[in-house]
Amino acid sequence: MLTKDRAVCIRTADYSETSQVVTLFARQSGKVRAIAKGSKRAKSAFDGPIEVLSIGDIVFSGIRRDTLATLTEFQPQPVRGQLRRNLAALQSAQLAAELLDSLTEEYDPHVELFDHFLGFLEDIEEGRAGPDRRDIMIRLILFQFVLLHEVGLQPILNVCANCKRPFGADRREIYFSASANGLVCRDCEISFPDKIRLSPKAARALVDLQQLAQADQTTLDEIEQVLLHHFTHILGRPPKLAKHVFSA
Ligand SMILES: [Zn+2]
Repeated sequence: MLTKDRAVCIRTADYSETSQVVTLFARQSGKVRAIAKGSKRAKSAFDGPIEVLSIGDIVFSGIRRDTLATLTEFQPQPVRGQLRRNLAALQSAQLAAELLDSLTEEYDPHVELFDHFLGFLEDIEEGRAGPDRRDIMIRLILFQFVLLHEVGLQPILNVCANCKRPFGADRREIYFSASANGLVCRDCEISFPDKIRLSPKAARALVDLQQLAQADQTTLDEIEQVLLHHFTHILGRPPKLAKHVFSA
């Protein structure tokens, strides 16, 4: 049986001299791992080797969890815009793809997450985000919160994750703890050795994510560091691309 869908390639690996195993995040099907036979030949059904972050309509067969599907068609739209030109944009998008791969299960569809991810990529590619690093960082941070929400790992930000009391107007002392899965107040922080103390600006933006768009670069960098620390806790290892996000 053939399945049609729209997908973004989030990972590739060589399978043989001529073929790749690709991980696709598809709108209706969720994550699909498939063999793309002959994809590395100059002439193939796929217009050459499949690249991470390429987007297009796919046709595949063999839906069974823990078994490779067979990709029969994929004609990605060419990547020519900012994802080719802007290293910071490319590395942010690659980090988003890596996190998506790490946190989703095969054939577990997340339509809203797919649409958000696609919007994130298109905003970068078409120049709506960037070339300013700040613009890309805001979108990367929002994507990561959508991802956490969609996979059921949303951190608690509106109240203290431990005592559940709301944060008052005084936000000088708020911490983030990965083990508490969210923000903790100064009465509770002592119980969480992994906590990170937040600057008042970062705390304000996290308690109310609407404020994120107004945050300055330093605050955004701080929030991204906190998120990477959180993903490291969730995955049990740092995301591979984490180290590149601040260096580009
Ligand atoms: Zn508390």
